[in-house]
Amino acid sequence: MQPFYLKIAIDTPLNRLFDYLPLAQTNRDKYAPGQRVLTSFGRSQKTGVIVSISDSSELKPSQLKPIQTLLDDEPLVSSQDIKLLSWAAEYYHQAIGEVFAQALPKQLRGGALPKEQFETRYSLTSLGQHLDDARLQRAPRQASIQKLLLEQTQPVSSAVFASLDWPWRATLKTMVSNGWVELSQANVDDERIVVEADFEPNQAQQDAIDTVAGSLEGFTAYLLDGVTGSGKTEVYLQLIQRVLALGKQVMVMLPEINLTPQLADRFRRRLAARMVVYHSGLTDSQRSQAWLKCRSGTANILLGTRSSVFTPMQHLGMIILDEEHDGSFKQQEGFRYSARDVAIMRARELDIPILLGSATPSLECLYNVQQKRFSHLVLPERTGHSIKPSIHLIDCRNKKTEHQLSKPLLKAVDDCLKRDEQVILFVNRRGFAPVLMCHCCGWVAQCEHCDSRLVTHQRQSQLKCHHCGAEHAKPRICPRCQQAELFALGSGTERIEDALTEHYPNTPISRIDRDTTKGKDAMQLVIDKVHQGGAQLLVGTQMLAKGHHFPNVTLVGIIDVDAGLFSIDFRASERMAQLIVQVAGRAGRESKPGKVLIQTHQPEHPLLQTLIKKDYAAFAQDALQERQQAQLPPYYYQALLRVNATDERAVLDFLQQLKPHLNAIAMPQVSVLGPVPSPMLKRAGRYRYQLLFESAERKSRHYFLLQLLPRIDQIKAARKIRWSIDIDPIDLY
Ligand code: ADP
Ligand code: ZN
Ligand code: ZN
Repeated sequence: MQPFYLKIAIDTPLNRLFDYLPLAQTNRDKYAPGQRVLTSFGRSQKTGVIVSISDSSELKPSQLKPIQTLLDDEPLVSSQDIKLLSWAAEYYHQAIGEVFAQALPKQLRGGALPKEQFETRYSLTSLGQHLDDARLQRAPRQASIQKLLLEQTQPVSSAVFASLDWPWRATLKTMVSNGWVELSQANVDDERIVVEADFEPNQAQQDAIDTVAGSLEGFTAYLLDGVTGSGKTEVYLQLIQRVLALGKQVMVMLPEINLTPQLADRFRRRLAARMVVYHSGLTDSQRSQAWLKCRSGTANILLGTRSSVFTPMQHLGMIILDEEHDGSFKQQEGFRYSARDVAIMRARELDIPILLGSATPSLECLYNVQQKRFSHLVLPERTGHSIKPSIHLIDCRNKKTEHQLSKPLLKAVDDCLKRDEQVILFVNRRGFAPVLMCHCCGWVAQCEHCDSRLVTHQRQSQLKCHHCGAEHAKPRICPRCQQAELFALGSGTERIEDALTEHYPNTPISRIDRDTTKGKDAMQLVIDKVHQGGAQLLVGTQMLAKGHHFPNVTLVGIIDVDAGLFSIDFRASERMAQLIVQVAGRAGRESKPGKVLIQTHQPEHPLLQTLIKKDYAAFAQDALQERQQAQLPPYYYQALLRVNATDERAVLDFLQQLKPHLNAIAMPQVSVLGPVPSPMLKRAGRYRYQLLFESAERKSRHYFLLQLLPRIDQIKAARKIRWSIDIDPIDLY
């Protein structure tokens, strides 16, 4: 028998496949790429995935071990997915085993059986619906269960009994054996009767739908460029219906924060579909179940966040990625990838359409449109009667402000509240104040682990570092001069909230930031309150800019826009423009006109001027030109090598030893910038440096890194540092 070898992806940072022998006495036809195996690896046991089967190995048979167990009879990972994962590992220069591990839910990665489970559902039989009252009076527990089930219109999961504070399972069991309650098995989300939209798509929507629907067979990337409220979701829904009608599946990806229960409900109401929702709040078992149901086709719609981009789907017919400009599609640690770019690659490989939606498209996407690589679909108007908000600048130079609230802004707030309407004030920092200082000696509260200041959180009477999470009790006296003359400088959401409470003691105020929305339902409570209507004030961070619709908000104030104009990060202005437009999109969604006021000390800033006098598209054109002149993405391709250690010396030694390697592989097509200290040198106790590689060609960048990265492991000083490579980085720190 001809010998053969299994090439296996094992979850380790070593970027290669590992060769193993098959189990003794087994035939080649027992094995296929995509099966999981258990192997002994070093001193431990690991699961891995067979990537290929080969006739040869670079190692001698005596150096090879057989696998320990073959976990799957059938491949768990399809050959298409193996191809996608291998591409991702190569493009992002990440260890292939880690990439495969990332693509499997934890339980399956650990070797669990890939078995779909179906939840039991409960409903009353007709006997159970008509139990006589006397009998129920003697059995109050049975009566409670009957009451809960009578309220349901369809079979429900046991979650409905969660409100009962006694052991309901035993009672339920009795009721089942009496024939009063019957059990059924749930499919993902059962197909049910759907509600059609009570409006016809407008012309722009119809054109977009027709264009995409006309080429469902074959790859095209579409940019669906539509202002907030222009009906993008409606376009998605109608296209999804068509793809499902062909018996295919659809993957819909969203930023975590936009994946709300309301949106999932909207999808459920409109689509006769078997939908699963995939996000970070799921348990391990829910995750692997969702994954398996997409893989088998039990589910035909996946509504998920970044990490769902690798979910297997046998009959995938279309990918939709909403809010494509959102930074959360980029994974910033471990396996650094862009879910948007992976999704595009996936669509290309499968030869299916992908729809990228945004009210503020990324410059990357707009560039691809210019290059005719993406097809541009535009929804220029808000639907229905809602009118575009007007945007104005408030010049704050030389003006008195009260905790950063200027007179014109307060005046506008007054007017709005008098009309019984609602106001959003956007502050880009949570907490009370960003600086705590001593009036006597000038001491400033600094984080001991980071090059940053501690933020005062008045509500909890704490000082917190927003970079490493360190927390301290807020001192009463100055630790240096012992005087009780500490004062807080600048304002965050808490302080603005206080100032507003003072100004408007009778108006309900809600603060929305990461501190107030920790609990599961906290955000929902605020949203419910706002939807009740009436004059209200909302103060919050950029969480407010995303996803939610606040129909009664007619005024949006942006307290401080200047920080975004002067960042060292070349993407800061793009983000600022996106934020302004997204925040503006929260105002005046119904028939009332909305107004946006932006406080600035730079009223003549060209970015602000273009954005306000023209629009986002005009801003984007200018910004793209600047990027081209400055040789920046999307015209140039970047990669960032980050190096850090608790000992700064170790980093410097490493960089010193890296230098000859950089010289050895130097090529004219790739420029090397740095090494330089990261903008925040010390963070969470680690000293950080970075090197930026830039090239006009992806190919050259790739080749350069293929030469460089293997050399790093040979550098002696590399053992004392941590490093990572970030392809197409979106944050340069
Ligand atoms: P987007 O996703 O672009 O923000 P949505 O699809 O959520 O916009 O649409 C905003 C609102 O307008 C929704 O309440 C939706 O039901 C409604 N809508 C969408 N299309 C139309 C239309 N053609 N006519 C009337 N209302 C529409
Ligand atoms: Zn002092
Ligand atoms: Zn810190």
